[in-house]
Order: sequence, then structure tokens, then C-alpha cells
Amino acid sequence: MYIYGLFIPFMAKRRRMEVRVTDNRYAGEISRFNLAVRMIGHEARTGTIRACTGFSEDRIRKIYATYFKQTGTSTVRRRRGKSPTQIAPFLSSALHQSEATILACLFLYCGLVHLENSQGDMKGLRLDPVGLGERMCDAFETYRSVHPKPGLCFEKAWGLYNALVREKELFFARCDDCGGPYIQDRYALDYRHCPFCDIKQTVQQLS
Ligand SMILES: [Zn+2]
Repeated sequence: MYIYGLFIPFMAKRRRMEVRVTDNRYAGEISRFNLAVRMIGHEARTGTIRACTGFSEDRIRKIYATYFKQTGTSTVRRRRGKSPTQIAPFLSSALHQSEATILACLFLYCGLVHLENSQGDMKGLRLDPVGLGERMCDAFETYRSVHPKPGLCFEKAWGLYNALVREKELFFARCDDCGGPYIQDRYALDYRHCPFCDIKQTVQQLS
């Protein structure tokens, strides 16, 4: 930097650093904002969006009002309260269990979780809140795009993640028939028979 014709290298360096810090803060703010929009679009609860973005409830309400209410995207609802955590809906039928299994596999592929041991226990990867939210969106969006009739909502996806890595109520069991993994209740009697083989068997019996 030149002051009265004199070049001051320290000040030039300091200015470059300030610009870099400002750029980083701006990029971080954009990431949080994009994530909030993405999560509102998936009808995530305000508490979940707050946990990932750090935005206040008022800020989230304003984003929703600006980008969803006024643009006519009235099908998107804003949900409040805590996320559901019960595991019963994931295991109530072979169809639901197969959906939960597909989503849990996508948690693996999207870098949210990894297998902790050969017993099928899952562990969450160390991610910052924004990274966790972004990868959850990646997994959920992929699930919605590949499944012909997706029945799990975004909050159910969070519930599944928590049941796998926090409460550890669910784990990946192995099917004796096809060798494939499937989501199972840790405390339930396991017949080592996956929901995909169940569905295949039912279809064969009906035809
Ligand atoms: Zn099987």
C-alpha cells in the first residue's frame, strides 16, 4: 500500500488478509442461506434449520416469507416443534423397512455416516452443522429422485440418522438369503431376512 508515495508492505498484506476474511465470511453466509432455502423447500422443521444454519427463528421466517410465500410456492409448509425420533415407522412393514434401508445406504454414500464395525453399527462422520445439513439434503434429494414412491419426509430422514448414530437403536443387519444389508431394530428378534427378499417372496406368491 502507498501512503504519500511510500510503499508500506505490512499494510498491503493486512488489507489482503482483511479481504480474505470478509470473503470467507461472505461465502459462509451464502452457504448457510442456500442451506436454509434448501431445507425450507424440504419442509424441515425450524429447529432443524436453526441447528444447521445458526439462523434465528425470525431470520428463517423471513426467508420462508420472501422465497416461498410470495413466489406462490404455497405447497411448502413451515413446520415447528421437535423432530420425530420413534423408530417404529421405519420397521412397520417390509416396504417401510426397505425405504429406510435405501435412505441409510445413501447416508453412507453421501458421507454422513460410516460403518463402525462388522456388526453393522453406524457412526456419524465429524462434520460441521452446515456440512451435516448439506449432506443430509444430498441424501434426501437422491432418495426422492431414485425411489418411485418416496414415503419418508425430511424430518423422518433426520429421525433415521439419529436412530442410527445417536440413539443407536437401529443397525445394519445382514440377510441370510441374499447377503444384503438392511436396517433392523437392535432390540427386536432378527430373523436375518431382509425386506427386499420379503417383497420379492410376496410378489412371487401373488403371481
Ligand atoms: Zn435378502
